[in-house]
Amino acid sequence: MKKAKLALKTEALQQTTIQVGSATVGGADLFIVGGPCAVENREQMDAVATRLVAAPVQALRGGVYKPRTSPYDFQGLGLEGLEILAAVRDRSGLPVITEVMAISQIEEIATYADGLQVGSRNMQNFDLLKALGQTTKPVLLKRGLAATLEEFVMAAEYILSHGNPNVILCERGIRSFDPYTRNVLDLGAVVALKQITHLPVLVDPSHAAGKSELVAGLSRAAIAAGADGLLVECHPEPEKSVSDARQALSLDEMVALVESLRPIAAAVQRTMPVAAEIVPQLSLA
Ligand code: PEP
Ligand code: MN
Repeated sequence: MKKAKLALKTEALQQTTIQVGSATVGGADLFIVGGPCAVENREQMDAVATRLVAAPVQALRGGVYKPRTSPYDFQGLGLEGLEILAAVRDRSGLPVITEVMAISQIEEIATYADGLQVGSRNMQNFDLLKALGQTTKPVLLKRGLAATLEEFVMAAEYILSHGNPNVILCERGIRSFDPYTRNVLDLGAVVALKQITHLPVLVDPSHAAGKSELVAGLSRAAIAAGADGLLVECHPEPEKSVSDARQALSLDEMVALVESLRPIAAAVQRTMPVAAEIVPQLSLA
């Protein structure tokens, strides 16, 4: 970690807050992001936004360029998906976050989305990280499938050192030997990252667990461990998800999960925005 100059704390209480649309990440309020693995159509995203705005969540997620293991699987809606995300953002008032896989996509995605996600498979795509350093959009950087914390922090350092101070870290589970869970959620990493970096740290329990029934418990553990928020996959009809169906929560389950965080948040001196602060922005078109 010796070579990190910008990502590490210089004093114990240093904490960066980052604005994602109207929401703040890294402050007292938790930052909960919900939405499907992939944007599939307008109806799906409208259903997600309408339900989650009152949960409340603070941002929506949904991939339009998908890094799929098989080239024969759905690769995302591309530009059409970005237009859906922007329309749903304008209707709900919720900022939207989506994955950028290539330098050539940055400009287009940045005109539609409020936050740019770098997926695990690209955590060490250094040219992509440098290019994202030249934007000012918040970058949600996910930990690589088998990245050490030093590699993770140095990946953030690439973005920071190229001029973009708005980096949010996201622990999403690392590869291990037991196929029971898709990955192993590394809560030790969350505690360590909160100690050594001043950047906000989110947890994605969905890709860590790979099973919807494990997501709520891991979410509560993540908040108890000091995470600044969560990135959770949910879908109006989870079993019909075109990708990651096994780990998707229903919208009812997502709302219940958010509610169940309240006592945990209070126990670790975090606050949760109330729905009433967000609902007035919702104008049903
Ligand atoms: C995602 O968040 O949709 C995703 C593909 O996650 P990861 O890069 O963590 O696998
Ligand atoms: Mn997914």
